[in-house]
Amino acid sequence: MSLLEKKASGAARSGPETRRGNAFDRILERESIPLSRTAPEVLQLNLGRLCNQVCRHCHVNAGPTRTEMMSDATAREAIALMDRISSLSTLDLTGGAPEMIPCFRYLVEEGSRRGVKIIDRCNLTILNEPGYEYLAEFLASHRVEVVASLPCYSRENVDKQRGEGMFARSIKGLQQLNAFGYGVAEGKDAAEALRLHLVYNPGGPGLPPPQEKLEEAYRERLAEDFGILFDKVITIANMPIGRFRSDLLRSGQLDAYQTKLEEAFNPATVPHLMCRTHLSVDHEGYLYDCDFNQMLDLGMGGKRLHMGDVTAETLRRLPIATGDHCFGCTAGSGSSCGGALA
Ligand code: SF4
Ligand code: SF4
Repeated sequence: MSLLEKKASGAARSGPETRRGNAFDRILERESIPLSRTAPEVLQLNLGRLCNQVCRHCHVNAGPTRTEMMSDATAREAIALMDRISSLSTLDLTGGAPEMIPCFRYLVEEGSRRGVKIIDRCNLTILNEPGYEYLAEFLASHRVEVVASLPCYSRENVDKQRGEGMFARSIKGLQQLNAFGYGVAEGKDAAEALRLHLVYNPGGPGLPPPQEKLEEAYRERLAEDFGILFDKVITIANMPIGRFRSDLLRSGQLDAYQTKLEEAFNPATVPHLMCRTHLSVDHEGYLYDCDFNQMLDLGMGGKRLHMGDVTAETLRRLPIATGDHCFGCTAGSGSSCGGALA
């Protein structure tokens, strides 16, 4: 039953549906849009929930007191999985703040040795935390692509969402990256460029604005105000899960936001959904179709599978596990770890 159907029947809203046959599946069926996995391209490892920040919109409920973290043994299994599945060409490291987890350096070094693309999903302020002075140079020397969260170019909006003083520290982090050549593509060929992308997410229960227009505004303001350069802006919709969901529940906006996502369903986004090409792995090595399903404990294809037990063939045969939250990926221009989809 979709939210609209539930409202009509007066049924109470519960958490995200986790079985096949939910509202998202039904809309795919109605529109005759298949959702199937292709050969996996991206291994996205969630190294743990430890973070130096406590943001209001955080879908993983990360923070300084979280203790979950990937062990060295699990990190070695992840590298073995990359070696076993040859279609995996990107190692995407996320968290929490992935750089705070001890196996982060090992994973970067092993990925770099294998010549795969490495992505660090960085919150920027970690670059100027005591003890992380080495980080910008380390990332540059291993040619790691940095996807950095900066939810706005205004101090007021960033501090409201991420905490007092976080805007100034994020700007400092960007300047540290620029100093090592990040985001300064001019005069370099594509293979040499150190990529720096900025992630925008809305401050509240709204859809992100058009990515290209927003990028223009970021480019102008960050260059004029702080002399900062970057490659592109990635827009990501807030998923109605985790801390953001609790916020929506508290303010009585959850149903309205879910309705907004469902009404903005865009079929053109489905072929580009990241669950088709990504393998998401938690800090213990279990597999999910995406980071959002991981946060909902909705295992890959609805099963609890460890990465040590799978082959490319096992994965190919698994369906993608969906729920009401999937409308967050297909609303408007769509949303993924790589930005808008359509
Ligand atoms: S949104 Fe990112 S930076 Fe903020 S608490 Fe969550 S993991 Fe940390
Ligand atoms: S939340 Fe998005 S990426 Fe994850 S399974 Fe649903 S549609 Fe796919």
